[in-house]
Amino acid sequence: MDGKPVKKSFDQWNVRPNLSDYDTTCASFSWESILNEIDGLPDDTGINIAYEAVVRHAVGRLGNHLAIRWLGKNGTIQDYSYQNLHSQSNQFANVLRKLNVTKGDRVFVLAGRIPELYIAALGTLKNASVFCPLFSAFGPEPIRQRLNKGDARVLVTTQKLYTQKVSDVRKSLPELKHILLADAGEDADEGVLSLPKQMANASDRFAIPQTDPEDMALLHFTSGTTGMPKGAIHVHKAVLTHYMTGKYVLDFHPGDIFWCTADPGWVTGTSYGIIAPLTHGITSIIDEADFDAERWFRILEEQKVNIWYTAPTALRRLMRMEIEPLRQYNLRSLRIIHSVGEPLNPEVVKWGQQTLGLPIHDNWWQTETGGIMIANYASMDIRPGSMGRPLPGIEAAIVKRTNKNSVKIADKPGVEGDLALKTGWPSMFRGYLHDEERYKKCFADGWYITGDLAKRDADGYFWFVGRADDIIKTSGHMVGPFEVESVLMEHPAVAEAGVIGVPDPLIGEIVKAFVCLKPGIAQDEKLRPDIMGFARKKLGSAVAPKQIDFVNNLPKTRSGKIMRRLLKARELGLPEGDISTLESDS
Ligand code: ATP
Ligand code: MG
Repeated sequence: MDGKPVKKSFDQWNVRPNLSDYDTTCASFSWESILNEIDGLPDDTGINIAYEAVVRHAVGRLGNHLAIRWLGKNGTIQDYSYQNLHSQSNQFANVLRKLNVTKGDRVFVLAGRIPELYIAALGTLKNASVFCPLFSAFGPEPIRQRLNKGDARVLVTTQKLYTQKVSDVRKSLPELKHILLADAGEDADEGVLSLPKQMANASDRFAIPQTDPEDMALLHFTSGTTGMPKGAIHVHKAVLTHYMTGKYVLDFHPGDIFWCTADPGWVTGTSYGIIAPLTHGITSIIDEADFDAERWFRILEEQKVNIWYTAPTALRRLMRMEIEPLRQYNLRSLRIIHSVGEPLNPEVVKWGQQTLGLPIHDNWWQTETGGIMIANYASMDIRPGSMGRPLPGIEAAIVKRTNKNSVKIADKPGVEGDLALKTGWPSMFRGYLHDEERYKKCFADGWYITGDLAKRDADGYFWFVGRADDIIKTSGHMVGPFEVESVLMEHPAVAEAGVIGVPDPLIGEIVKAFVCLKPGIAQDEKLRPDIMGFARKKLGSAVAPKQIDFVNNLPKTRSGKIMRRLLKARELGLPEGDISTLESDS
């Protein structure tokens, strides 16, 4: 916990952060007051995410305001006002209604970041059906598994993805009744329909049915970093968290332009790539293309992005390129940068300050939590390496399980243990689909045990230690890979590192690092002892890696997380387990 605070100056801001005093906001916070800030369905008929995201703005004074600006891979731009999004998502909801798809039915979308995905998501929610996004780069088997496990009734996809990945497995999915092809002019057969044709015949008026706040709204599969992905269930009431975190963490203000780089195939791309910014009536940028440093900086400049939400893996890639964006691009519109998905190494926070002129605000959450739970706020100094402090209305603690059903809360600062959240926040997952046993195991004494290990400092900042599954036990020490990886990244030759424990009869496990070097640096034999010595000096010999392998790439999930379990399986010659979410070049 030695990250020096990064001081921020707000003099250059023309907006005051929504959360300007953490303690006061926490003390006066209630979910009731957030409930008063959203509209709720007319005539007290419940809460529906799509109503809060689109309808209330479309019928209010933001009807003509830009809701989504879509940037196509090939340079085309499509703009959607709140009114456009409203009428097109109404049409989609009517398409579902005509197909007899109703409340609770699962509507999957397998597509890149195309406009139809966003329209389908909102139309599905309006119809009180369940939106289930799938990442378009999955292969046929992971797609089949998820469609099957998720009881898919409708699949929205493209002609190419259907032919390549779905047509062969369709026979084994009898519950999948309707396939809607976003780019087909004509129907292919009885169950494979042209979406544009269906939309053209559908009315753009639609009344959202009564929606209970506890009705299932979203089904999200986890990233599969630690094993087989789980299907987390979320309900319409989750929109309270989406809205609240958009206000207090992402710091949305009227007129803001926001860019979340995550794909809706992962929870960040739905909670924050679709829902949260719309609930605030601001403009979202959606880029169809994949990571490209130059393109990204151009987007930040040309679209005058104010708030940027991205991931450590992307930031580390930018860092590795050693570019000087402030010289080449005008990034003056950028007010705040956020990161999520993996621990954010202190080196990256510092790089942001030096290279982009802004520090990077780390925040922590999971598919299961549905929204941000712990964060660094605009108004607070950042402690590099810390995930920040819990959101107002969220109680976080470090606990130790004493038995299956109870926990002991660590009241002293600095103690490592399970990161736990007091149950009851609106976007808490309501189950793992078809896996009640596993769901139950996550809870004890009214706490949700997250599966991550962390510690809390005396000022209430939380520090990530590692995933419970990744912790290394060596010579009586518990070592979190993140700590070691972050120190390795401070070495001038190192771009990225993944650290695991390799079983050893004498000391339990040996700390082993897989290291990617910066471009142009040769893997010579002098470098290895140099990096080891550097790590030993910083971490002490018990914690520093005893073995280092140089590698060109680390295995990562498609959402950008280092898959340490795969590094370990490969090291030990063990089966690789589920690799459906593995990035193809790793
Ligand atoms: P699976 O549960 O299938 O193994 P996953 O946990 O990677 O996959 P997600 O729900 O997408 O799936 O990721 C949540 C996890 O990502 C957290 O539990 C945590 O381990 C990690 N994470 C997210 N944000 C942060 C952060 N800011 N700092 C450290 N770790 C983070
Ligand atoms: Mg997880």
